[in-house]
Amino acid sequence: LGGRNLPFAEIDNEIISVLKLKPMSVYEISHRTRRAWRTVRDHLRRLRELGKVECHFSEQGKLWFLKQDNLVFVEEPQIVNLDLMKIIWDKVEAKELMYYEKSQSKFRMPLIEESGILFPLSLFEAIRTVLAKSFGHHRAEGILFDIGRKHALHAIKKFSNLLRGGHQSLAEKLFDCGINLELGKKIFKSIYESQGWFKVIDIKWGKNCVFKFKYTFESFAYSGIYPCKFIEGYLVGFIQVLFNENVVGHKEIKCVSMGNDYCEFHIEVENDVQKKLDLLFP
Ligand SMILES: [Zn+2]
Repeated sequence: LGGRNLPFAEIDNEIISVLKLKPMSVYEISHRTRRAWRTVRDHLRRLRELGKVECHFSEQGKLWFLKQDNLVFVEEPQIVNLDLMKIIWDKVEAKELMYYEKSQSKFRMPLIEESGILFPLSLFEAIRTVLAKSFGHHRAEGILFDIGRKHALHAIKKFSNLLRGGHQSLAEKLFDCGINLELGKKIFKSIYESQGWFKVIDIKWGKNCVFKFKYTFESFAYSGIYPCKFIEGYLVGFIQVLFNENVVGHKEIKCVSMGNDYCEFHIEVENDVQKKLDLLFP
């Protein structure tokens, strides 16, 4: 899960700064920035895709150059836009954009440009067990729901803020990037499947947004005994930010914990979001 911001764009900018001195090899950049050479290599690849640097072979080997017409520093929104395009048009899976940042021993999480860690699902089980022991099952589920919702509000708002478009909803901003609601489902699937959250079977947008997932991480963590309250809360926050709509109802109507072989969440909003966007973008 996300943590404090890691300065990914900062590393890019350090590399650009040292390359302003002269063209250099990966190793020299690594030495001067005191960053692991693998980190430098990964960032150089991204900078090349952003059109900031290029590499040429010379007598001293492979050297990296700044592109002269492109000395402006890199900003996170550019990186996020590039990553979005890679997922949609180049069909790169989101997990390919997630990489291990050696100097800080963290994973870079794409689209929200945050650092993350891996933890076993038994940790989630421990959290639920302690909450249930302290407050009872019902209250524990309420807390997990609130944490899920709060986390989505943070993460999805952050992603939305990294896209241009001011006060528009995330769905409208995505549309401006050429991503309609159908393609939006693809990004959703790529991101959350890459992070191990669940397998997406189906998503429907409307007044009632329907999500069908198999193998949710919560059903794994709780051995299929308790409902997926964190995910339910997460979807509520997600829908709120995606469409800038008030959520008027939410329920996990099917769950592994009820004996179903998949989980189905219904998130109801004030206005039919499919119709609302069809009106905006006929
Ligand atoms: Zn469930």
